[in-house]
Amino acid sequence: MEITPLEPWIREKLGTSATGAELREEIDLHQLGKLRETVDYVRTRSPFYRQLFAGVHGCDLKGLTDIASLPFTAAEDIQENDLRFLCVSRDEISRIVTLNTSGTTTHAKRIHFTEEDLELTTDLFHHGMKALVRPGGKVLILMPADRHGTVGNLMVKALRRMDVQGIPHGIVLDSGKTIAGIVEHEVDCLIGIPVQVLSLVRHRDAVSIPKGMIRSVLLSADYVPAAIVREIESAWGCMVFNHYGMTEMGLGAAVDCSALHGYHIREADLFFEMIDPDTGRPVPDGEPGEVVFTTLTRKGMPLVRYRTGDLSRFIPEPCPCGTVLKRLEWVRGRLQGGVGLGGGANLTVADLDEALFPLPGLLNFRVELASESDVQIIRVTLYCADIHAENLCSQAAKKLEAIPAIRTAIDNGFLAIAPIRASSENWISTGSIKRKIIDSREER
Ligand SMILES: [Zn+2]
Repeated sequence: MEITPLEPWIREKLGTSATGAELREEIDLHQLGKLRETVDYVRTRSPFYRQLFAGVHGCDLKGLTDIASLPFTAAEDIQENDLRFLCVSRDEISRIVTLNTSGTTTHAKRIHFTEEDLELTTDLFHHGMKALVRPGGKVLILMPADRHGTVGNLMVKALRRMDVQGIPHGIVLDSGKTIAGIVEHEVDCLIGIPVQVLSLVRHRDAVSIPKGMIRSVLLSADYVPAAIVREIESAWGCMVFNHYGMTEMGLGAAVDCSALHGYHIREADLFFEMIDPDTGRPVPDGEPGEVVFTTLTRKGMPLVRYRTGDLSRFIPEPCPCGTVLKRLEWVRGRLQGGVGLGGGANLTVADLDEALFPLPGLLNFRVELASESDVQIIRVTLYCADIHAENLCSQAAKKLEAIPAIRTAIDNGFLAIAPIRASSENWISTGSIKRKIIDSREER
């Protein structure tokens, strides 16, 4: 098995020839040095951190664990005023990403990048993609690529550096057309959002893709359903890699190696911690917790101890690929991801994904919780291309009833499942935004 390409890349960035435990030590030292630099950099340049870190100095950090003494940065802090985070003048910013937040009352969250910041991400893509594709290969990018500094735009640039052709496509709007493009260009790797790639696998024209042509797929999202990974693997016989990254991390952060069992992190540029979401204290190695990160090399808008709300854990056992880089378990959900159904039952998008996506022909679904007189109602719409709807709906009802949270709530008389609807329209509109359970219940 090939070692993650991130290890030789990080070794080169650190300018060392060390391997094994010695390399791990050098990475830790590098991170400590960069953490100290970052604390001083943000305290002297950003109005937000000037206030937050008043009296704190980089040299106060004697070891990596001392970072736990610093306060956190929350998403709300950025929403309140992103400009207070800037460490450079506004004309040095070359890309601003505006993130839509779920609530309409809050301000949008805006993340700023300098050209140098974007280059760090391009460099990650260049080296991370070596696990998926060889020189001469062709990669179809099913992500926005129309503007400077978008993921697709940076990816095309990164692939060119490794003599691979990146074909910018954008979000899938017509699966049949996208499949025709895959066949025409003889694409051997795809990058996309899980439900969008699923729409290709389950399209009637998918049979036109020659067996073995697609060798790898990179799925990028905050949460990748395991059911979708299995479906893509078995349909195309390809390797499916998970990527983890949020805009705040600089778009990209961590990617699977060919062991396909947890992501390795760009540790020269990011420091990850795992904390207990309730107490804020670090959890023991290997225990699940909330992912918290600090940027080590960003210039425009560095972030220190940013709480992601994502749940994961470090996998303490060595990775089969043989690297000394840390391994992060696939993010399977978010802290605020679930909805309470009463009596302690909590339903998450992940529960629904793993139950429903194995259903043949399903492309996506919408779940809404409503309340009617005394009981909560769960309303599910299934999106599918061919409607064998009745069969699919009855299968879905069985799957829903088998989810423990739903089962418990039904047994306790708190919940009923409304007749399930199937629709062949409009599935695509739910394809690119963050998937969640729509909660229209009245005050409980
Ligand atoms: Zn590995």
